[in-house]
Amino acid sequence: FFFNPYEGIAEAQESRGLGDVYKRQDLMHVRLSDESVCIGAPSPTDSYLNIPSIISAMEVTDSDAVHPGYGFLSENADFAEQVKNSGFSFIGPTAETIRMMGDKISAIEVMREAGVPTVPGSNGPLDENDARALELAREIGFPIIIKAAAGGGGRGMRVVYNETELLNSIKVSSTEAQSFFGSGIVYLEKFLENPRHVEIQVIGDGEGDAIHLGDRDCSLQRRHQKVLEEAPAPDIPDALRNEVAATCIQACKNMKYRGAGTLEFLYQDERFYFIEMNTRVQVEHPVTEMITGIDIIKEQIHIAFTGDTALIQDEIKPRGHALECRINAEDPSKNFQPSPGIISVCHQPSGFRTRVDGSIFQGYKITPYYDSMVCKLICHGRNRNEAIQRMLRSLDEFVIEGITTTIDLHKKLLTHKKFVESDFNVSWLDNEKII
Ligand code: ADP
Repeated sequence: FFFNPYEGIAEAQESRGLGDVYKRQDLMHVRLSDESVCIGAPSPTDSYLNIPSIISAMEVTDSDAVHPGYGFLSENADFAEQVKNSGFSFIGPTAETIRMMGDKISAIEVMREAGVPTVPGSNGPLDENDARALELAREIGFPIIIKAAAGGGGRGMRVVYNETELLNSIKVSSTEAQSFFGSGIVYLEKFLENPRHVEIQVIGDGEGDAIHLGDRDCSLQRRHQKVLEEAPAPDIPDALRNEVAATCIQACKNMKYRGAGTLEFLYQDERFYFIEMNTRVQVEHPVTEMITGIDIIKEQIHIAFTGDTALIQDEIKPRGHALECRINAEDPSKNFQPSPGIISVCHQPSGFRTRVDGSIFQGYKITPYYDSMVCKLICHGRNRNEAIQRMLRSLDEFVIEGITTTIDLHKKLLTHKKFVESDFNVSWLDNEKII
């Protein structure tokens, strides 16, 4: 069953002036569930981020385990800990692992010890010593990036191009980090000017065994939000891919990693630089499922219940190429402002090697409470070109009326010379006027 933040709170909602509320039949995940429980009002802090409320829902339904999905509490160590202490299984890594990887400085340390390539940087937090900070920055070489140890979601980073801005920027970054993330600890890294974002999917059994499922390229981003992802990452020498993946496995073995995770890298001039690890399944995991034939969610659940994985590295043979387009309820012509509303017409594409992950339907109402991503379209092909052609055919078939979506943006992106030639980096989409 799923926890439902709506049902049963219509009156409370209306009395708080929050307007219309959802009923059971309005939400696909609730419709499909055998049972649903109200966990609070639509505002995430009242429901999906409300730990006591979720644990109570697990208790009243006599649950065995919780799958945290992505977003919300999926990388929250306190949640994982409280779930375990209440006698339930958390489908994911241990609270200790989540905590260790959630602190970017300790994550980098674990990776360095395992031989994972990292970005040249301060290798630890900055202290109050201004002279030392300047010395470090000179050693690393400008431009540098100041990052919050507890940062996330693309926030808490500041690029510095010369010495005069450095000390003030460190102070401002630390103050901001304190107010955003509750920790003012910051560190320095070399700022790479035109990297791609390449990540490696790993799965560990929690007992010291781990495998990888290859890589993905997620360089097409707007304001640090991924827009279109693909697997495998194009144009990387196989020997290099395999070498880096082997170091990722070593890191997972060292920390006895449990479940699915992703090591994120920047890739520039045929070199990988680790930036962070996500200790959950990611939005873009379907592209990896499509090329490996492995159901990552099933593996997560299997490992949580058995402490074992049946996956064997030598048997994993990625085939072909997969793309994922995130379909957002946003208006690209109005600076991507959210476009909530009711979907009046909905026709979803289908056919050979075409997959839609999502829960939209005709009559579905998109509220302003959550992320604007409403579904994902994933296509697989024998090679990258076939995957692109299949995606274009599927995007043409996709009809969503009543709201504005990013479907047209994807069509333009997929036919853009730079995309076709894989000639892009993480800042390309922010700087290119596609629509
Ligand atoms: P978050 O946890 O907030 O997502 P990340 O460390 O994953 O932060 O970085 C997010 C994005 O910021 C990266 O995908 C990349 O675009 C940019 N970035 C981060 N570190 C660097 C760096 N050292 N050089 C250049 N760009 C960077």
